[in-house]
Amino acid sequence: MALIAVLAGDGIGPEVTAAAVRVLNTLGLGLTFEEAPVGGAAYAANGHPLPPATLDLARRADAILFGAVGDPRFDTVERRLRPEQAILGLRAELGLFANLRPARLMPGLEEASALRPEVARAIDLLIVRELNGDVYFGEKGMRTTPDGRREGYDVMRYAEDEVRRIAHVGFRAAMGRQQRLCSVDKANVLETSQLWRDVVIEVAAEYRQVELSHMYVDNAAMQLVRNPGQFDVILTGNLFGDILSDQASMCVGSIGMLPSASLDAAGKGLYEPIHGSAPDIAGQGKANPCAAILSAAMLLRHSLGEAAGADRIEAAVAAALAGGARTGDLGGALSTGAMADRIIEQL
Ligand code: NAD
Repeated sequence: MALIAVLAGDGIGPEVTAAAVRVLNTLGLGLTFEEAPVGGAAYAANGHPLPPATLDLARRADAILFGAVGDPRFDTVERRLRPEQAILGLRAELGLFANLRPARLMPGLEEASALRPEVARAIDLLIVRELNGDVYFGEKGMRTTPDGRREGYDVMRYAEDEVRRIAHVGFRAAMGRQQRLCSVDKANVLETSQLWRDVVIEVAAEYRQVELSHMYVDNAAMQLVRNPGQFDVILTGNLFGDILSDQASMCVGSIGMLPSASLDAAGKGLYEPIHGSAPDIAGQGKANPCAAILSAAMLLRHSLGEAAGADRIEAAVAAALAGGARTGDLGGALSTGAMADRIIEQL
C-alpha cells in the first residue's frame, strides 16, 4: 500500500491539500496518508521550517503531496529559518532536480486567460525546470564595500552534469509529446547559459527525433504571450523557469490552475501547486484547489504508476470546469470545498 506524505504547510496550503486528498480518496486506490508540519506552521511549533521528523516522513513516503509555505509573520526571521527554506531544503535533501510544469488551457477557461481566446486556446506546453542549481543555490551574501556601500550577491552557476541530467529529462518528455524542445537561456550575456546551451546541444545528439531550438529568455517571455502555441517542451534553468512558469499560469487562466512535479533520478517525487500560500485569501475558503488536485494526478502518474487514475482526475477537473464550476480567481463564486465537490461529482 503506497504511503503519501501530506505536507500542507501555510496559508491556503492546508485548504487546497485537503481537497486533493479528498479527490485521491474518492478513487479508492487504498493509499495511506501521513501528515507532518512544514514551513511557518512547523517553525511556530518546532522552531524549524523543516523538522527532522518531517524530513524523515518525506524520505519514507512513496510520494509527497505538498501544499505551500510562506507566512508574512516570519518575514523578518533569519533567512535559514524562514518558511520558504522548507521547500528548498526538501528539494536539496531529496535530490529533486527535475521540475515538470505542464500548462494547458482547459476548455471553457478562455475568458479567464489574460490572452485573446484564439491565442490562449493553443496552449499545451510543458516547462521542464532545473531545480537544484542556479542563483538559488550558488554562493550568496551581503557585504559592505570599502567605500561604505552595501552590496548583495548571488552566484549563478551550473555544472555540466547538472545540465546534462535535466536535458535528458526534457528530451525524454519531448519524445512522449510533440517531439519539439525549446531550450531557454541567456547565452548572449551569461557564461552559465553558454555552458547550458553547449551541453543541451551535446545531449540532443542522443534524441535525433526531437527538433531542438534555442531562445533567449527575454524573447521567450515575449513569445509566451505572443504565440504560446509554438511551444511543446520548454527546457530551462531554475531562475528563468520560475519566472516563465508563473507567466504561463496567467496565460491559462489562473495561478490556481497549474500543478507541478519535482522528481529525483529514480522518479520519486514531490507534487505541489505552483502557487504560494496566498496570505491575502488564506482562511477564507476562496482558494482554487485545481492546481493541488492536478498535482495529485501527476503524483499518481509519475510516482505510483497509476496513469488511469491520473487521467480520471484530469478529465474530472476538465468536466467540472466545462460545466461552469468556477472559484473566484476564475470569475466564479464557488468555495474551495464546493469546487472540490463539483470535481468529485464528476468522478
Ligand atoms: P502566491 O502564489 O501565494 O499568490 C499570488 C497571487 O495569486 C495572490 O493574489 C493569491 O491570492 C493568488 N493565488 C495564489 N494561489 C491561488 C489559488 N489557488 N486560488 C486563487 N488565487 C490564488 O504568491 P506570493 O503572494 O508572491 O507569495 C505568498 C507567499 O507564498 C510568500 O511567502 C512566498 O514566499 C510563498 N511562496 C511559496 C511557494 C511554495 O510553497 N512553493 C511558491 C511561491 C510563493
